[in-house]
Amino acid sequence: MISFTLTDEQREFRDMAHKFAEKEIRPVAPEADEKEEVPWDVLEKAHQAGLITYSFPERYGGGGVESVTTKAIVDEEIFWGCAGIGTIIGGVALAATPILIAGTDDQKMKYVSRLCEPGAGGRPRLGAYALTEPGAGSDPAGMITNARRERGKYILNGYKTFITNAGIADVYLVFATVDPSRGTDGITAFIVEKDWPGVNPGKKEKKMGIRASHTATISFDDVEVPAANRLGEEGEGFKIAMKTFDITRTHIAAGAIGVARAAYEYALNYAHERRQFGKPIFSFQAIAFMLAEMAMEIDAARLLAWRAGSLYDEGKPCAQEASMAKAFAADVAMKVTTDAVQILGGYGYIREYPVEKWMRDAKIMQIYEGTAQIQRLVISRRLKA
Ligand SMILES: Cc1cc2nc3c(=O)[nH]c(=O)nc-3n(C[C@H](O)[C@H](O)[C@H](O)COP(=O)(O)OP(=O)(O)OC[C@H]3O[C@@H](n4cnc5c(N)ncnc54)[C@H](O)[C@@H]3O)c2cc1C
Repeated sequence: MISFTLTDEQREFRDMAHKFAEKEIRPVAPEADEKEEVPWDVLEKAHQAGLITYSFPERYGGGGVESVTTKAIVDEEIFWGCAGIGTIIGGVALAATPILIAGTDDQKMKYVSRLCEPGAGGRPRLGAYALTEPGAGSDPAGMITNARRERGKYILNGYKTFITNAGIADVYLVFATVDPSRGTDGITAFIVEKDWPGVNPGKKEKKMGIRASHTATISFDDVEVPAANRLGEEGEGFKIAMKTFDITRTHIAAGAIGVARAAYEYALNYAHERRQFGKPIFSFQAIAFMLAEMAMEIDAARLLAWRAGSLYDEGKPCAQEASMAKAFAADVAMKVTTDAVQILGGYGYIREYPVEKWMRDAKIMQIYEGTAQIQRLVISRRLKA
C-alpha cells in the first residue's frame, strides 16, 4: 500500500519542528551566518525540546522516534529554518547512527546515552563523523589514517579534514585502516572521546554557506583507543559507513528540500507583491512558470525522500533510492534557490534579503555525504539491463 498521509505522530513532530524553526532558528540564522558562529543558545533550546536526540532509542535516553521517514519530515523543517544549524544537529545523528547500527549494547549505552545528556553548562553534547581526509574524499579506500593493534588497544594516527563539529564534539566516530593494502576491506570504525591525549582539533574552515556550522580539521596523534571502542569487526568500517548513508542520505535530501522550500515560499510571496509594468511580476508567465517548476520539483524530491525512508523503515534495501533522493533533492535545492534569487532580481543578490544565503547553503547538498557524481555512481551500479 502507498500512503501519502502522515501519521498523527509525524504531523505532531513536523508541527513542533516547524514552530521551533520559525520561532527559534529563523531569527538567529542571519547573524550566525554573518558571524560564522555556532549559536549555542538555540542548540540548547533544541536539545531541551528533544529535537537533537528524538530519533535515538528511549533505552539510551533518546525520544524513541526511530522512523527514518519521520526524521526526514522533521529535518525538512529544521533546514527550512537554517541549513547551518541543521547541519550541526545532523552531525550528532551522523555520529550516533553507526553506533546504533553496529555497536554493542555497552557502546550504545555509553556513547548514545552520552549524546543525549547535556554537557558542561547545559550545552548539548555533539558528535562528529570523521571519514574524509585530504587525499581520500570520494574514495575512502585511499585513507591513510591508521590504527595499529597493540595489546588490548589500538594506536590511532592520522588527519581528517572538513569534519562537521570537529573541535566542538564530545564523541568522534573515526574511520581508520588497519591495513592499507586491503583497501576498503581494511577500514575500521572507532569511537573516540574528545579528551583523550592526542585528539587535536585543528583549523576551522571559512565557508561559502552553512556558516553557522563548524567545519574543521582534526588530527589523531598516537591516540590510545581501547579495543572495546572498535565498532564492529576489523575491516567492517566501510560497510558500516555505507549502511549509515542509507539513512543519512535520505536526511540530507530532506534538508535540501527544506532549503528549497524556504526559497520557493519567499519567492512566491515576493512575486505577488513586487510590481513592474504596472502588475505583480507573478502575472508574467516567465515568473509564474518558474514558480510552478519549483513547486513540482520540491514535491518530486520530497516523494523520493519519503520513499527511501519508507523502504528503510520496512527493512528493505534502499541504497539506490537514498542516493536518488539525495542527488535529486540537492540539485533541486541548487536550482530552486538560484531561481529564487532571479525572481527577486537585484534584491535577490543583496544580503539584506535571505535568498542569497539559501543559494549559498544549497551548494553543500551536492557535495557532502557523497557528491552529486558519487550518488550517480551508486545509482548506476545498481541499474539492471
Ligand atoms: C561543509 C562540509 C562539511 C563536511 N562534513 C563532513 C563530515 O562531517 N565528515 C566527513 O567525513 N566529511 C565531511 N565533509 C567532506 C565531504 O563529504 C567531501 O568533501 C566529499 O565527499 C567530496 O570529497 P572531496 O572534497 O575530497 O572531493 P573529491 O573526492 O576530490 O572530488 C572532486 C570532484 O571529483 C568528482 N569525483 C570524484 N570521484 C569521482 C568518480 N569516481 N566519478 C565521477 N566524479 C568523481 C567529485 O564528484 C567532485 O566533483 C564535509 C565537507 C564540507 C565542505
